[in-house]
Amino acid sequence: MSRKLAGKRALVTGGSRGIGAAIAKRLAEDGADVIITYAGNHDAAKTTVAAIEAAGGKGRAIQADAADSAAVTDAVDAAAAELGGIDILVHNAGVSHFGGVHEDSIEDYRRVLGVNVDGVVAGTLAAVPYLADGGRVLIVGSVMGETSMMPGAAAYSASKFAVQGLARGWARDLAPRGVLVNVIQPGPIDTDMNPADGELAAQLKSIVPLGRYGRADEVAALASFLASEDASYITGTTINIDGGTLA
Ligand code: NDP
Repeated sequence: MSRKLAGKRALVTGGSRGIGAAIAKRLAEDGADVIITYAGNHDAAKTTVAAIEAAGGKGRAIQADAADSAAVTDAVDAAAAELGGIDILVHNAGVSHFGGVHEDSIEDYRRVLGVNVDGVVAGTLAAVPYLADGGRVLIVGSVMGETSMMPGAAAYSASKFAVQGLARGWARDLAPRGVLVNVIQPGPIDTDMNPADGELAAQLKSIVPLGRYGRADEVAALASFLASEDASYITGTTINIDGGTLA
């Protein structure tokens, strides 16, 4: 097994389930110590921590609502204190909302933008003083940050467009320190948020040229690559992992 991230210190938001859990486990398998945040699912968070430790890394879970900037800042401070700094920051925590402009409330927009955008901003601002030179900031966006794709997705899509702008700006700001900032844009991935046997599945599979949902571990492999030395000249960009959806 490769240990290409040996000695690295990682913080993964929304690491209790789905894509975040897969990324946390993969970074640990590659040699990193990994602290995760989560919203409220204690059992799932414990399971991820156990997997990190089984892979040989130091693991810990911190409950922190991504929409609460004070909680996010406290979580980053605690993670940096425990790890002795941060090399890899993965913004993965996210929520979806599908409604429509005729029925959505302003609260629907605030919730989605609060978790998916404000959480990313608060986490990055808090982490910058702790980020090691040569570190990584990865943001899990979505193909819906490129095209809204279906009716009812405005809030979610807007949140994922926003993180591209943040990543491009921060890539320039942090380049002098060698910190690389990129967005991973998954297509449909089989998780609790978007189960491969869920309501949207048939419609989504039909627009994926590879004809199937992706797996969280496939996204984790990309995150591991971007976190590694192999990705040393990649910053300020967006990488799709979508089975060809945006081709
Ligand atoms: P899941 O719903 O399966 O898991 C979400 C994770 O985020 C959980 O760990 C959850 O914690 C955490 N989380 C949710 N809300 C908050 C919050 N307010 N504060 C802190 N943590 C929170 O989602 P996915 O794994 O599918 O999605 C992960 C990311 O990938 C999201 O940003 C999503 O937008 C993006 N994405 C997903 C796609 C898909 O098809 N699945 C496609 C494209 C992008 P807890 O367990 O405590 O609830």
